[in-house]
Amino acid sequence: MPEQLIKGYQRFREGYFRRNKDHLNSLAEGQWPRIAILSCCDSRVDPSVVFDAKPGELFVIRNVANLVPPCETEGLFHGTSAALEFAATKLLVSDIVVLGHAQCGGIRALMDRPEDLDMASFIDRWMTLAEPARLAAEASQQTHGVNGVNGANRYVACEQFSIEHSLNNLMTFPWIKTRVQQGLLSVHGWYYDLSLGTLSRFRPGDATFTPLC
Ligand SMILES: [Zn+2]
Repeated sequence: MPEQLIKGYQRFREGYFRRNKDHLNSLAEGQWPRIAILSCCDSRVDPSVVFDAKPGELFVIRNVANLVPPCETEGLFHGTSAALEFAATKLLVSDIVVLGHAQCGGIRALMDRPEDLDMASFIDRWMTLAEPARLAAEASQQTHGVNGVNGANRYVACEQFSIEHSLNNLMTFPWIKTRVQQGLLSVHGWYYDLSLGTLSRFRPGDATFTPLC
């Protein structure tokens, strides 16, 4: 049994749970988060910590490298798409944030992958979703030199191109595209550098990332 979890739970029960009992009790009525966040599984990037959010405030979807797949309707299992559908059509969130991050292991694996992909690997197959970002990052390196665009190294470039690609894929889901067109939903691409504690946002106009605050 992982002792760390038992001890952490005991601290939670005695501390956080007691201090926030009323709020947590009120959540038994249901959840009404206004914001959905798609972030990486990376243990260092926890949206609730980064955004100082309480339970019930954020609908968090996590997968390897915070990728949004395109809308595909064949009968396979689409966990991320199902969560997005729930957020957009049931919770009716007003914002979806794709939260990328620095030092992403998934992106690093994509950029450093061998020529021959192991399509039996769930990770390798999953990361092919970001192949357009890898190609864009490599092309950017060709154009802007070893440090890439805006001084970004090839990993940062791919992490950021991948966010842009995921934003494009979000719009392939009809229930997202329609709500965006109706002005009921906004989508955002943010990039978090965990070592610096900085947060920047993607600006579609000039396709750059600028400090958010
Ligand atoms: Zn990651």
